[in-house]
Amino acid sequence: MRLLLMGPPGAGKGTQAAAVSEALEIPAISTGEILRRNVAEQTALGRQASPYMDRGDYVPDEIIDDMVRDRLSEPDTKPGFLLDGYPRTLAQVEALAEILSDAGSELDRVVELVVDTEEVVRRLTARAAQDGRSDDSEDVVRRRLEVYVEQTAPVLDAYRERGLLVRVDGTGRVGEVTGRVLAALGDPGN
Ligand code: AMP
Repeated sequence: MRLLLMGPPGAGKGTQAAAVSEALEIPAISTGEILRRNVAEQTALGRQASPYMDRGDYVPDEIIDDMVRDRLSEPDTKPGFLLDGYPRTLAQVEALAEILSDAGSELDRVVELVVDTEEVVRRLTARAAQDGRSDDSEDVVRRRLEVYVEQTAPVLDAYRERGLLVRVDGTGRVGEVTGRVLAALGDPGN
């Protein structure tokens, strides 16, 4: 099963990526995590990416696309994979389609975790307070959500048009949400 997991910050994407990848026995691949590891290890890729990341900008498509192509050529992705944090632009949508078609495969599903804006604001501000972060004020959290909607709406639309998008209610307990995601993946009519 070749999957994408999408959803706003605070939707519980990381937690669900881990649970779904374990249930389906496929690797969860987060582009943000690969980049942070490369920055920490000061690889050539990390040195190229870090100025963009430090500014909060997107790393250029060519760098990300090459990185994903490399990762998806590893043998553990043969039975499938769950990508988190990629694609984020329409150019990346096309690059991923090409990477997969070069390998003779294609995406099976794109799962969007849907969480009400007020619920996400509540979760993120609570998390910020717990972590002692003062930068995650309600205004900043709302801005991050606006940016997510602006940037990912075209990507979601592209997958909706291709009939790949499934929307899953991301509210409730972790296990309940995982159950909904797995049910949605098993039901082609969903
Ligand atoms: P994340 O942990 O997914 O929020 O990613 C952290 C940072 O890595 C982002 O702010 C971007 O600078 C960079 N990044 C991760 N994934 C991508 C992507 N698909 N395209 C461009 N930049 C990305």
